[in-house]
Amino acid sequence: MPAHAPAGLMSSPNDSASALRAMPDGVLVLNFNYEPLNICNLRRGLILLYLQKVEVIRHSTHSFSTSDDQYLLPSVVRVRKMVKRPLPRLHISRRSVMARDGYCCQYCGSTSELTLDHVFPRHRGGETTWENLVCCCRRCNGKKGSRTPSEAGMRLPRLPRKPTYVPYIPFPRFVAALQNPEWYDFLAGYGKGLE
Ligand SMILES: [Zn+2]
Repeated sequence: MPAHAPAGLMSSPNDSASALRAMPDGVLVLNFNYEPLNICNLRRGLILLYLQKVEVIRHSTHSFSTSDDQYLLPSVVRVRKMVKRPLPRLHISRRSVMARDGYCCQYCGSTSELTLDHVFPRHRGGETTWENLVCCCRRCNGKKGSRTPSEAGMRLPRLPRKPTYVPYIPFPRFVAALQNPEWYDFLAGYGKGLE
């Protein structure tokens, strides 16, 4: 890496477009107050940098080469002015419940053939809520049938609950983004309700 490599800025938007397309990672965009705001693709991140709308907070471990030079790429950027947007509501969805539960059955830990289980059975009045839905494999779902976990002799290791904080990033994407070690420090504080 040359010592004069600029902070993620591209010299021209047309430089080696094919090399940019090959880069797999997105860019985490933080608000001015460091609140997670968005995840954009690398091209969009570079354009934001080029337009000086954002500054680089952390560089990617990937770099970008042209015939003349090699550049650091952004992994986390922060907008230079506060973006004010209403906080979106966290709607319950199949994908969101699965993301909350780590895409594994809450009864046995299986990660295959997943579905959702109403902890207190739906036909007995169990509601479709964060507190009454868990990710469940088809085998456990069949075993439990229309019973409660205690009636079926099954145990939930933890009570399901609604995540306590909703960032602007869609919930399943936020959970996946927590797996990126370059982003973890910037996201973990906003997912305190996740286990
Ligand atoms: Zn299971």
